[in-house]
Amino acid sequence: MFKKILIANRGEIACRVAATARRMGIQTVAVYSDADAGAKHVQACDEAVHVGGSAPKDSYLRWERILQAAKDTGAEAVHPGYGFLSENEDFAKACAAAGLVFIGPPASAILAMGLKAESKRLMETAGVPLVPGYHGADQDPALLQREADVIGYPALIKASAGGGGKGMRVVEKSEDFAAALASCQREAINSFGSDAVLIEKYVQRPRHIEIQVFGDTHGNCVYLFERDCSVQRRHQKVLEEAPAPGMTEALRAQMGAAAVAAAKAVNYVGAGTVEFIVEQTAYDQPESMKFFFMEMNTRLQVEHPVTEAITGLDLVEWQLRVASGEPLPLQQSEIRMTGHAIEARICAENPDNNFLPATGMLQVYRKPQASSFERANMSDTGVAVRIDDGVREGDTISPFYDSMVAKLIVHGDTREQALARLDTALAQTHIVGLNTNVQFLRHVVRSASFATAKLDTALIPRESAVLFKQDTVGLQAAAAAVIADALQAEVAAQGADPFSRRDGWQSHGITQRRFELEYEGQPVRAELRYERAGVLSLQVGEAAAASLQFTSSETSPNPGGGLWVQFNGARIHSQVHAQGEVRHVFTPQGAVRISLLDPLAHAGEAAQEGGRLTAPMPGKVVSFAVKAGDRVLAGQALAVMEAMKMEHTIAAPQDGTVAELLYAPGDQVAEGAELLKLL
Ligand code: ADP
Ligand code: ADP
Ligand code: MG
Repeated sequence: MFKKILIANRGEIACRVAATARRMGIQTVAVYSDADAGAKHVQACDEAVHVGGSAPKDSYLRWERILQAAKDTGAEAVHPGYGFLSENEDFAKACAAAGLVFIGPPASAILAMGLKAESKRLMETAGVPLVPGYHGADQDPALLQREADVIGYPALIKASAGGGGKGMRVVEKSEDFAAALASCQREAINSFGSDAVLIEKYVQRPRHIEIQVFGDTHGNCVYLFERDCSVQRRHQKVLEEAPAPGMTEALRAQMGAAAVAAAKAVNYVGAGTVEFIVEQTAYDQPESMKFFFMEMNTRLQVEHPVTEAITGLDLVEWQLRVASGEPLPLQQSEIRMTGHAIEARICAENPDNNFLPATGMLQVYRKPQASSFERANMSDTGVAVRIDDGVREGDTISPFYDSMVAKLIVHGDTREQALARLDTALAQTHIVGLNTNVQFLRHVVRSASFATAKLDTALIPRESAVLFKQDTVGLQAAAAAVIADALQAEVAAQGADPFSRRDGWQSHGITQRRFELEYEGQPVRAELRYERAGVLSLQVGEAAAASLQFTSSETSPNPGGGLWVQFNGARIHSQVHAQGEVRHVFTPQGAVRISLLDPLAHAGEAAQEGGRLTAPMPGKVVSFAVKAGDRVLAGQALAVMEAMKMEHTIAAPQDGTVAELLYAPGDQVAEGAELLKLL
């Protein structure tokens, strides 16, 4: 086995590889770009080498520099992760030339599977079923049009060199073909440097089911069952699971055999995935499922953890063993699966705006309780939740790399149990600072189609009515959580027990407070009344007042506490994270954004308009810092008020002269009461 390897990647996959290496006693070398100087993957490795600028072409794709780093640090092998150099046959060759082991398949297998058209020709000879289509070398547009007409519409034009869901065009009718071809070729040449395309029948409502294969240098090749990756947006995977719902033993065996045949046709070594598109006439008729080869990915896949979860195997360990010349640890008949696993890709993006990628800082990044990645084996250790990520709270999702923040993987005895665990784990994932798809994922998980395993690649558009712009918390509950949180913070700031000293209100004679909120761009006023010790009533907007109680929760399911808010009879656990006036409210039902306007910040504005100074909240006048006739400058302190045992200074909104003080120190004043006149 290797003593030291270099990991030619970043983010979660670099951390993932490092975890297994550490467990196996193998030293690791990280490479990093300018943007990643302090990144988690750098910390996860024993050594790190800076390889250049932030753009991938200046660092993670600079393979001469990376190979130099491997030599300088004495690494014996290079793990390419996924993306970047993982499917670059020149890099695989360069590793060999430099005397380094490339932890992946032989360069010849990468080359053979690198172009979709060529690989389909190969698969044809190997007897693997193909989607009806054209994958010839002749790229004459008139010929391509004729081929598409023969295949029929809708047809799919695919860049042969494409990947990551890019370079694909669905064509609905013959008249649209020419324009779609031109646009597909433009994207292909820009993204992949080649405009060669192939044409396929566009399978309606298909499923994406792929088979994990593994080969070794001794001629063995096995499959580790399937993954269903049908839930996609922009032809990219969002949720992946294993086993595929509805899969029969017979179909699994057929698909497994086809995948192994595909791998053997290119003398495959290491981890690979054979992707199939599966036609089905109905969701509950597995016997109607027909599978066709789509492509082979000659690397470890993003979604490999679901396979690890059901098989109890560590695929990175297998990669390292195979690369160092060992035979596969298990034979086909020894590979078993238990239970059901689902992975959700948490991405920095805005689902409500066509999944536009987002960037920004992870100001809050709270994860569900999960196993630290020790062993990939979730079924053996009884670990139900696993998180693979490459970021920490405070890190930034930069525009340079992809938008994946983390992968959340759950395992259960049944799909139902895995689903429930996923929903809970997503509820416990709190991210503030940038847009993510966490709430969207919850809506997918709870949608009728996903819950009942009616899977196909059109699931997201089909369920769009329940997936987007959903507020599952509601204004009233959100307001209750935010106000309870604010009260707790106010009283806690004085060092008092926030919940036994509710009588503090009474001693001031204050029985009522107002809060100005902003929800979905609209101002909302909330009124809170003191009823009796521990019980408040809250009226939000025009809605009827409801009783409100709250207690801090020591036994919170989330690290970092939170509050139990009892509102309208329902007891809700909520956690509130502030970002300026914006409050991010997380509850088991969902998350919502609502603003709690700072009365003092806005009091100045109101005063400015009226030229008056009013109490921003009910409370007691502590003191005046000025007297009638004084000249004051904007920003100068005029009076101090106390409410909820906190002092608030009221400052002059503009230069002027104090005309009159309308109260004396010690007076109780109502909200909105004019305290003094400024001219
Ligand atoms: P998978 O089926 O495993 O999701 P993809 O083709 O979508 O495979 O790509 C795998 C991962 O590698 C994705 O996270 C993608 O963003 C990343 N990736 C692909 N190509 C590149 C590239 N050229 N540079 C950086 N990351 C890439
Ligand atoms: P990439 O290299 O970008 O991953 P794939 O060929 O694997 O490209 O296709 C990506 C996705 O596009 C598939 O998972 C599937 O959802 C969809 N797709 C690909 N080919 C077809 C087809 N012939 N019919 C319907 N959908 C398809
Ligand atoms: Mg693919």
